Amino acid sequence: MMECKTYIRAHADDLLKDLTTLIRIPSVEGEPTPDAPFGSEVARCLHETLALCDRLGFRTVNMDNRVGWCEYGEGDEMIAVLGHLDVVPAGDGWQAAEPFSGEIKNGRIYGRGTMDDKGPTVAALYALAALKDAGFVPSRRIRILFGTNEETGCQDMVWYLEHGGEVPVMGFTPDGEYPIINGEKGIMNCTYARKLNQTGAYRLTRFEGGTASNVSPAYAVAELACPAEAAGKIALDKVTVTAIDGGIRVEAEGVSAHGSTPEQGENAIGRLALALTMLPLEGDLADCMAFLADRIGMETRGESLGIAMRDDLSGDLTVNLGVAAFADDTLSLTLSVRYPVTKTYDEAHPRMERAFSLGGFHETKMKHKAAIYMPPESELIRKLSKVYEEQTGDKAVLKSIGGGTYAKSIPNLVAFGPIFPGDEIREHKPDEYMETERLLQNAEILAAAMYELAK
Ligand SMILES: [Zn+2]
Repeated sequence: MMECKTYIRAHADDLLKDLTTLIRIPSVEGEPTPDAPFGSEVARCLHETLALCDRLGFRTVNMDNRVGWCEYGEGDEMIAVLGHLDVVPAGDGWQAAEPFSGEIKNGRIYGRGTMDDKGPTVAALYALAALKDAGFVPSRRIRILFGTNEETGCQDMVWYLEHGGEVPVMGFTPDGEYPIINGEKGIMNCTYARKLNQTGAYRLTRFEGGTASNVSPAYAVAELACPAEAAGKIALDKVTVTAIDGGIRVEAEGVSAHGSTPEQGENAIGRLALALTMLPLEGDLADCMAFLADRIGMETRGESLGIAMRDDLSGDLTVNLGVAAFADDTLSLTLSVRYPVTKTYDEAHPRMERAFSLGGFHETKMKHKAAIYMPPESELIRKLSKVYEEQTGDKAVLKSIGGGTYAKSIPNLVAFGPIFPGDEIREHKPDEYMETERLLQNAEILAAAMYELAK
């Protein structure tokens, strides 16, 4: 639809103005209130967005201030475009512009959310306005969903699904990257715990490391009540031992990496366990540290745990031991385990539970997000590939990733845009920006995609 391009170019100033209005609302998750479950600024941003939809002539729904949408066209089936209006905090280091300014200069619009994800969301809205203006009569309804809790747990879409929100027949989220992410590994974020009945001359009094399941820890520390000569028994690279009152402190260094690519890091908790097994530990403590050192250690593919699996599309299952904590004589381990895109929870989870139960651990927490895999021959992938190739002239190379995108939050979606191959990564960083040209290009691609999927 050539008219769409004309409309988008002719309304570029309006698009930028509306985006600036939204960027100026610092929609970081805040204190919940009855009318604003994710904080007042988040709710305000949703209200502002729905008002914009009204002005553009779309019917709108606000579902309990958690998620809203606008819709166009008629038909039994619905295709969805899922964006989000919440943002991560500004953080430090902004130099080019103020984080909540929406300042436009040097062909860029700056601000938290310009790329992730208010920019693409407003682009989608103008794409739909362009289709409407062109008189497009779709045979499937087109719904643009405005999520408000993507950055801090995706409870918006949990609410949507649990409260009768319609499931789209297909759709996409412009909250990933181009060309198309058609595979995402399944994610199990889980905690396993074991109570230690400590006996012998070596007693663990402290064991901790890491901050989140999805980050490979760069530091871990243990303290033991033990004989003074223990200090001499540990000799391991990147491990330091210091004498403390009544015992020793052992500190291990690692290399931080994202939990979806733990092989790029070095796990400080695993290294700490390896160091502690050099001590003449006894009983439960000996048992537990041996399990941790031998079954996990520095491994990231779950080989010794016996949970390794792989497929050609997405490679190996990965294990990231993100957090260790020790309290009330109980050691707890929090992990992010990601299994290949063509595998299932029923294949991966029982093996993991068995592995940990052999080490005396039981599962205390499990948050699962199923893998996504949309085959290249599916209608969704065929059509999005065609659109991408026509619009950019580049090949639509399909990609599987270990990370989870917003596409996981409701069925039948994949991530499509907004960032192009080779472009600078800037979401969640200082000086987040979107080139105004890229913004318009996104609107054009999204219009073509909605047209293909809904016609
Ligand atoms: Zn996002």
